[in-house]
Amino acid sequence: MLQKSAVRILALDDEPFMLKLLSHMLASMGFNSVTLCDNGLTALDQIKGPGIHPNLILLDLNMPGMDGIEFVRHLVEINYTGSLILISGEDERMLQTAEKLVQAHKIQVLGHLHKPVKPDVLLELMERWTPPIQVNPPIVKKVYTGDELRVAMDSAQLVNYYQPKVSVASGEVLGIETLVRWQHPEDGLVLPDLFISVAETSGLINDLTRMVLTQALNQAKEWQQAGLILRVAVNISMDNLASLDFVDFVSDLTTISGVPPQRVVLEVTESRLMKDTRAPLEILTRLRLKRFRLSIDDFGTGHSSLAQLRDIPFDELKIDQGFVHHASSNETLRAMYETSLSLARQLGMEVVAEGVEDRSDWDLLKATGCDLAQGFFISEPMPAEDFLGWVERWKERVSHEL
Ligand code: C2E
Ligand code: MG
Ligand code: MG
Repeated sequence: MLQKSAVRILALDDEPFMLKLLSHMLASMGFNSVTLCDNGLTALDQIKGPGIHPNLILLDLNMPGMDGIEFVRHLVEINYTGSLILISGEDERMLQTAEKLVQAHKIQVLGHLHKPVKPDVLLELMERWTPPIQVNPPIVKKVYTGDELRVAMDSAQLVNYYQPKVSVASGEVLGIETLVRWQHPEDGLVLPDLFISVAETSGLINDLTRMVLTQALNQAKEWQQAGLILRVAVNISMDNLASLDFVDFVSDLTTISGVPPQRVVLEVTESRLMKDTRAPLEILTRLRLKRFRLSIDDFGTGHSSLAQLRDIPFDELKIDQGFVHHASSNETLRAMYETSLSLARQLGMEVVAEGVEDRSDWDLLKATGCDLAQGFFISEPMPAEDFLGWVERWKERVSHEL
């Protein structure tokens, strides 16, 4: 049973009339804590401020100035833990896509409303509200400093985890993606989202990439000696592509390791790719000339994806997990997935689907002829020492169930 007094609502819409209407509807349903805002900036101030701490935001997508999608990005930055209801005059498809975008940011969406808003539909969505789950540590994510990260790097607290990339057609393990973790003495295993940007802003990203790549290449060589020939993928930050020595450092490390560049995959995230122009382009092209494999990561989440594809000779395209999981049952996702797939095909790139979480995702890749799969359905990222054991179990699974 919904406890109405626990719901602290913020309604954000640029139309004063709409705000009035919403506040009336909510009041008549028995929701008494309602704050009204007509623009994103004021709303953010309200949320950050000492006062109201909303745990449900009714958000209009179409606003002049800061639109709803941009507003959501800011919510992510301030670690908003409450829920959202999206409101728009746009068509169903648009709302579904927006909902997906928000969910990709791990914010809970109770649903969406078309304008004009109908009270019964609003009430139905309100009833889905549940109190935000308090994760430990509560509400604010820990923010690490560059100094802390430097110490961690100097004392070998960064460890590589590896997630398999497998052939959809045969089940064969073709490669691994390296995903760095911070084995923190007090906080446990810290995920990269909490420290990669710290590395970028404090000038540590080149050193970090160097460490990750060195570890990964050594590991690949060890597996090679154990008879496993794998492609080894490493994530590259946009900031790595700012200085021209990057080409030398990658190719020197690779030469020393004895792993041929054809088996080294550099995954670049598209959304960060668009910012600058010349240096990244030159660096990526030179790496490609040296036969490294270039992969465009999180495809579909950036803004200028098509321009990037035109300008940079990528070998591999990774369809973002947001368009893969549930794509078999959701029309919009499915359309995005299939479009990305056919685009990659036409450009002669290999396609990896990320976020393959269950059997229905896997079956869709099979039916549509996707090349590679990666995701929890196959395996979570794991420490190097678990890998050989996993390979054996995976072979069993392939021969029995896939
Ligand atoms: P990414 O390159 O897109 O990596 C995939 C992320 O999705 C990983 O998160 C992985 O654990 C997660 N994942 C894998 N399978 C599934 C699935 O089936 N479902 C879901 N929901 N998630 C799945 P992780 O390890 O937390 O890494 C996050 C991001 O951090 C990576 O995204 C990458 O952009 C960045 N990153 C990781 N290692 C490095 C690094 O060494 N250097 C740089 N610059 N960035 C890194
Ligand atoms: Mg990646
Ligand atoms: Mg990705």
